[in-house]
Amino acid sequence: MAARHAPVIVLGSGPAGYTAALYAARGGHQPLLLTGVQKGGQLVTTSTVENWHAEHGAVLGVELMERFEAQAVRFGAEILFDEVSAVALTSRPFRLTGAEGEYSCDALIIATGASPRYLGLPAEQQFLGRGVSTCATCDGYFFKGQPVAVVGGGSTAVQDAIDLSNIASSVALVHRSEEFSAEAILVERLMQRVAQGRIVLALNEEVDDILGTDAGVTGVRLRSTAGGATRDLAVAGIFIAIGHQPNTALFRDILDTDAAGYLVTRGGPGPGATATNIEGVFAAGDVRDPVYRQAVTSAGSGCQAALDAGWFLDG
Ligand code: FAD
Ligand code: NAP
Repeated sequence: MAARHAPVIVLGSGPAGYTAALYAARGGHQPLLLTGVQKGGQLVTTSTVENWHAEHGAVLGVELMERFEAQAVRFGAEILFDEVSAVALTSRPFRLTGAEGEYSCDALIIATGASPRYLGLPAEQQFLGRGVSTCATCDGYFFKGQPVAVVGGGSTAVQDAIDLSNIASSVALVHRSEEFSAEAILVERLMQRVAQGRIVLALNEEVDDILGTDAGVTGVRLRSTAGGATRDLAVAGIFIAIGHQPNTALFRDILDTDAAGYLVTRGGPGPGATATNIEGVFAAGDVRDPVYRQAVTSAGSGCQAALDAGWFLDG
């Protein structure tokens, strides 16, 4: 079967990918965007987004991403639901293999974002989908009226604990230290719920094991990070919210990455800030950003990548 060709292919349908597609379409470069299996990216796993300027108040993550898509389509971007499993970037046109077909392009924008990190306990995979989850927004409702635990101390964990306290009978927030890295406003809301008795903090503790039966999770074993003492907590669900890792496995040994696996882009002032080590391949969003990792910064770099790709194509 002949490869489907587009001047620009965008990999990923998060804020970076849709913004890149919007700018590439408006620049006349007829982009094809391949969504990947998580259409809409990480924001479809959250409840409300409150720091997207165009919205007054809050918007549901899913709705926001539908608007991103609609805006890109309005200006001529083509969107296909496909996940790419192999890339050949040594010569142009670049070639991509997806589950639904073969693709080729003259410029590639990688916006494959990041995926949830796991604790690395064998029981975590054993109970995945049977009490263990990395998405409180997706799975929280299954634990209506039941006790749950959330693991982590960043914005995701704190927001998850707050959201779950509206659904679950009790929420324990398990964090390995006393320092939250979450946004201050979220920590303030967390402390209000703690004062109301709706969330219990389990600080300086980490998950030693996840306990359960064939039917699913029944509890979690916590270990003190100061002393090592363990205790069991009865919960029906455990939400792992300990950050994300970049989706760069496809590009291993092809594109330069840092020690944590993030794609390295040229950076700095002037055109080409989103360029990778292969001419014509650009990267945007969380896949190249170990620091800021926000919707607005991802969208911003998606814009930059589309402009860089356009300048590259136009010579
Ligand atoms: P992602 O959103 O990670 O999207 C990556 C895309 O790449 C996905 O569509 C995926 O399907 C696709 N993909 C991956 N691999 C492939 C492949 N092989 N082939 C094709 N496609 C592929 N930020 C804020 O600013 N405000 C918030 O309120 C906020 N809340 C958050 C809540 C949660 C629970 C989480 C997890 C994050 C939150 N963030 C928030 C951070 C924000 O979601 C990310 O910074 C942003 O989504 C990154 O955008 P991205 O486009 O780089 O990548
Ligand atoms: P994060 O900021 O990287 O935080 C990860 C948390 O998990 C930290 O508390 C970390 O603890 C803990 N952790 C990491 N590995 C662990 C392990 N093996 N065991 C136990 N705990 C572990 O990740 P995030 O909270 O998902 O946030 C990601 C990005 O999305 C951030 O940039 C954030 O701003 C953004 N976000 C924004 C919002 C919002 O604006 N409302 C909401 C959600 C997410 P240590 O601190 O001890 O390392």
